Amino acid sequence: MSRPKPAPELKHLDHVLVSETAIRRRVSALAEEINRAYRGRDLTVIAIVNGAIVFTADLLRRLRSPLRLDCIRAASYHAGTAAVGKPVIIDNLKLDLAGRDVLLVDDILDTGNTLSAVRQLLLAKGAATVRTCVLLDKKARRVVPFEAEYVGFEIPNEFVVGYGLDFNEHYRNLPCIGVLKPRYYRGKI
Ligand code: 5GP
Ligand code: MG
Repeated sequence: MSRPKPAPELKHLDHVLVSETAIRRRVSALAEEINRAYRGRDLTVIAIVNGAIVFTADLLRRLRSPLRLDCIRAASYHAGTAAVGKPVIIDNLKLDLAGRDVLLVDDILDTGNTLSAVRQLLLAKGAATVRTCVLLDKKARRVVPFEAEYVGFEIPNEFVVGYGLDFNEHYRNLPCIGVLKPRYYRGKI
């Protein structure tokens, strides 16, 4: 199969923070860490959509445990690039979590509000263990104390798009993680 042409919206990036190659290598290494930790155990993977769709799809194909997949939706109300207030969790989970080892997957750990709320919810549903895997971690932005067990990259406090992450629902299809040129945020923040 020939290599796909790059999305034209790649030109909207001011700079790339994490390249496609770096993501591929890191996702592979993360999957190996997870494989070692859960060897011989069944796993329930819960992805927080939409943001975690691309990361989860790539990670999942490298996991070797017998696993089941479900998704949960978390919406933060945004004023431009800043989340406002508590996230709203839309719980459509189909799988029974009682006594299960759960791996919670998200695109980015920012204030920590979303992951700490979802983690609490999964434990309340009877999960035996909940570990968290995020591609990106913006440590400087934490509002509630939260650490993920598996972290792809620590990044500075910049609003990023690509590889599942959006700005106003665009740019999720970019293969790398980057920061938009200011003119594409302008008027919308
Ligand atoms: P929290 O602040 O609750 O840790 O993260 C909430 C959500 O905000 C994340 O799951 C992600 O969807 C979104 N978010 C946080 N930082 C960024 C960012 O730099 N870029 C994008 N596109 N979304 C972000
Ligand atoms: Mg999200």
